[in-house]
Amino acid sequence: MLRIGCHLSSSKGYLAMGKEAVKIGANTFQFFTRNPRGGRAKALDPVDVEKYLAFAGEHGIAKILAHAPYTLNAASKDEGLRRFAFDTMQDDLRRLEHLPDAMYNFHPGSHVAQGADLGIELIAEHLNRLFEEEFSTTVLLETMAGKGSEVGRSFEELRNIIDRVERKDRLGVCLDTCHVFDGGYDIVNGLDAVLNEFDRILGLERLRAVHLNDSLNSLGSHKDRHAKIGEGNIGLEAMKRIINDSRLRKLPFYLETPNELPGYQKEIELLRSLYEET
Ligand code: FE
Ligand code: FE
Ligand code: ZN
Repeated sequence: MLRIGCHLSSSKGYLAMGKEAVKIGANTFQFFTRNPRGGRAKALDPVDVEKYLAFAGEHGIAKILAHAPYTLNAASKDEGLRRFAFDTMQDDLRRLEHLPDAMYNFHPGSHVAQGADLGIELIAEHLNRLFEEEFSTTVLLETMAGKGSEVGRSFEELRNIIDRVERKDRLGVCLDTCHVFDGGYDIVNGLDAVLNEFDRILGLERLRAVHLNDSLNSLGSHKDRHAKIGEGNIGLEAMKRIINDSRLRKLPFYLETPNELPGYQKEIELLRSLYEET
């Protein structure tokens, strides 16, 4: 069975997201842990969490993905901004202890003229410090499009971060199809080669989640503009190959396409119709 969902608003709590997911035919979902621009998280509501967990169990919702605010920058030149990224992620991970089935995804950061090497050092240092505390949630590094000075624009950059982290067992990777395509990995004409390269550099066992997005821009454009499934330069045929690939098909897929709920529902239906049950 295809494990698929989309990005949902977390403003009404976990149970509301679970219900929304079921309504649109999803069996997982992604959400921002707090306002995507950072800021304080709402106090955790234990009753909501308990109701959500019961609901998720009944409806087969699993492997949900918590996404850190995208403005956090663990590679910032500014120590205050680095500390803010650390405090926020630490708080997120403490809260996620209440959701045993979640993973936690974050954008590695932007080095802003400091150079990728220093960016990589700062991100690894951030993770090593974060992992001084025990959390049960796996932290995922997202593959980035390489817009501006984003770190994580290549599999090698992610590898260089992971190499410097002591607790590698607590890290995974989330592959964003729009980002890797924009990063120059031709998943349209060479999915097999791209996955082989991923395996060689990062190890496919580290791949835990896929952000399924089409791309408005062309291969290697480093722009990061998501398109609806089948309406961008990746296209529906490639999407079909991606969700059915023997190395990817068991992973959870999360749509981050420019849609409201009815649009997501249609994409989920479409992708389910293209998934070959084995
Ligand atoms: Fe992201
Ligand atoms: Fe993404
Ligand atoms: Zn993106």
